[in-house]
Amino acid sequence: MKNVVVLGSTGSIGESTLRVAQALPDQFRLVGLAVHSHTERLLEQVRAFGVEHVAVTDREAAERCAAQLPAGVTLHAGPEGLVALATLAQADIVLCAVVGLAGLPPVLAALEQGTDVALATKEVLVGAGQRVMETCARTGARILPVDSEHSGVFQCLAGRGDDAAALRRIILTASGGPFRDRPDIDFATVSPAEALAHPTWQMGPKVTIDSATLMNKGLELIEAHWLFAVPFDRLEVLVHPQSIVHALVEFEDGNSVAHMSQPDMRFAIQYALTWPERCDGGLPGLDLHALGALTFEAPDRRRFPCLDLACAAGAAGGTAPAVLNGVNEVAVARFLAGEIPFTMIWKLVESALAHHKRVDDPDLDAIMAADQWARSFAHEEI
Ligand code: MG
Repeated sequence: MKNVVVLGSTGSIGESTLRVAQALPDQFRLVGLAVHSHTERLLEQVRAFGVEHVAVTDREAAERCAAQLPAGVTLHAGPEGLVALATLAQADIVLCAVVGLAGLPPVLAALEQGTDVALATKEVLVGAGQRVMETCARTGARILPVDSEHSGVFQCLAGRGDDAAALRRIILTASGGPFRDRPDIDFATVSPAEALAHPTWQMGPKVTIDSATLMNKGLELIEAHWLFAVPFDRLEVLVHPQSIVHALVEFEDGNSVAHMSQPDMRFAIQYALTWPERCDGGLPGLDLHALGALTFEAPDRRRFPCLDLACAAGAAGGTAPAVLNGVNEVAVARFLAGEIPFTMIWKLVESALAHHKRVDDPDLDAIMAADQWARSFAHEEI
């Protein structure tokens, strides 16, 4: 039985995590749930799972829900509530699925005291990969990836020991998003609704837009660089519209191993939580006969410039990835609000990276400052 803390329990990944926990009641006990402000849903989750600790980062929302919590439940209010939950003595693993760099302090706090982290929040490794991996190396705590591609790589490498050193390249697949097979479309006129119509994955709006621009894959390359200690010239992207093969690793002898599953985040979540064991959580296998064909193509880097922008920021290192991420987050939000065209997302990212004065080997303050600078830059440019 593992005691699990879920940061971001009402988001898409959080809800999927609760479904995994529900399917395996003998494996997991939920001991803490954190949300930003969705307290109505939080209260339902608390009652359903008998959780003892909750955190609500929005203080007004925390005040509103305080009186409605069942007796015996401890409420941690404000952003520091995430750290309080991440460092609960009884937690065996912390699943972090909060939005943005807000996930960084609790992830570092958990790792610092040796608690493993199942990580879904991309910004943590994108913004502070070096710091996070150094902390893991020092304390022995692990990052278990909660993303289909990185879970795929992790599973391809699992138990291979020295094989990992003989790695030639890692390939992450991308669905290609809703605009892959529409070369005629004018990106300047794309609406948020069109960009949100993802062909294979059901996800939150931010990551769905990132999938439409391929920024999501760019952020995932930066994560893979840190997670698997692989330089950018050995990381590749392959467009695979069926989203069945999530990752491939190729070894020095030319042999490749691929990871496949249905496109459902519960596969990655369950593996991160049960690792190093596997168990039957009721998730279905593949029917390749019914699928018939799996297809692959190279990404169109001219139509989707976010891929190269992310690789360049990742290779530059220092505070560049934090700037890439911060400006992209603002741009996506303003696009979803109908305030800027789709094309302005990558124009803003490119401009911010060109104007940013990079800090190498940044500490946490420098990373946060770069993120703030990027956000202000984006708003001012718009
Ligand atoms: Mg992914």
